[in-house]
Amino acid sequence: MNIIDLHTHTVSSGHAYSTLEENVKGALRKGIQILGMSDHAGSLPGAPHVFHFHNLKIIPEYIEGVRVLKGIEANIIDYKGTIDVEDELLDKLDYVIASLHPPVITPGNLEENTDTLIKTIQIPQVKIIGHPDDGRYPIDYERVVKAAKAHDTLLEINNASLTPSGTRQGTVENSRRILELCKEHQVSVILGSDSHISYSIGDFDKCLSLIKEVDFPKELIVNNDIHKLKKYLKKDLDF
Ligand SMILES: [Zn+2]
Ligand SMILES: [Zn+2]
Repeated sequence: MNIIDLHTHTVSSGHAYSTLEENVKGALRKGIQILGMSDHAGSLPGAPHVFHFHNLKIIPEYIEGVRVLKGIEANIIDYKGTIDVEDELLDKLDYVIASLHPPVITPGNLEENTDTLIKTIQIPQVKIIGHPDDGRYPIDYERVVKAAKAHDTLLEINNASLTPSGTRQGTVENSRRILELCKEHQVSVILGSDSHISYSIGDFDKCLSLIKEVDFPKELIVNNDIHKLKKYLKKDLDF
C-alpha cells in the first residue's frame, strides 16, 4: 500500500485548482497518510511569492490525521544545476523537489542536461528529482541513476507524466528505462502523483503498471514505508 505522496500542488501554484484542505480530503479518500505540498517556486509563471513558503510554518503538522509535509518544487534555472530557492528558505522546508520546466530552462543537449541534473542532485537539500522522464530534456539515465545512488537523492516516477494527456514527451519509455536502471543498480525511487487537483492525490496507477511490467522490486519503492522514506529526508524531520 502506497501511503505517501510528496508531489502535490495547491491553488497557490497558479495552474492548480484545490486548496490544502481539499487536498487533505483527497489524501484521506486514497489512504495517503503523508501528504507533501510542493507548490512551484518563483521562476514558473503564476507561482506564489516567496512569502508563501516562509509562512508554511503556520500550517499544522497534522490535518484530520494526515501528516502534512511542507515542501517546494524548485526550478533548475541553469546548466550549473542551480535552483531558484535561496539557502535560508531551503533550510526551513521539510523537503525539496527540483525539476526541469519549460519555459524556465531551455533544453540543452544530452550531455548538458545530464550534467545539469547531476549537479542538482549534489545539492544536499534536494531530496527528489521531479519527473526526470521528460523527453524534451534528453538525459543519460545511467549516469543520473548512479549519481542519485551516490547522493541518496530520489528519482521520481511521475504519474501525471504517464497519463496520455500529459505534456511531457517520451515519458513511458523514459520511466521504464529509469526503473530498469534503478532495479539493476539497486536504487530507490519515489512515486509522485504531481496532482494539480485534489481528485488525483495518491494516484499512482500509471506508475504501478510500469512497475509491474519491469518487475520492479517493491523494496525499492519508498512510498509504501515511512521508515524507507525517512532515510532520504532530513534527519531531524519527525513524521
Ligand atoms: Zn514539475
Ligand atoms: Zn509538479
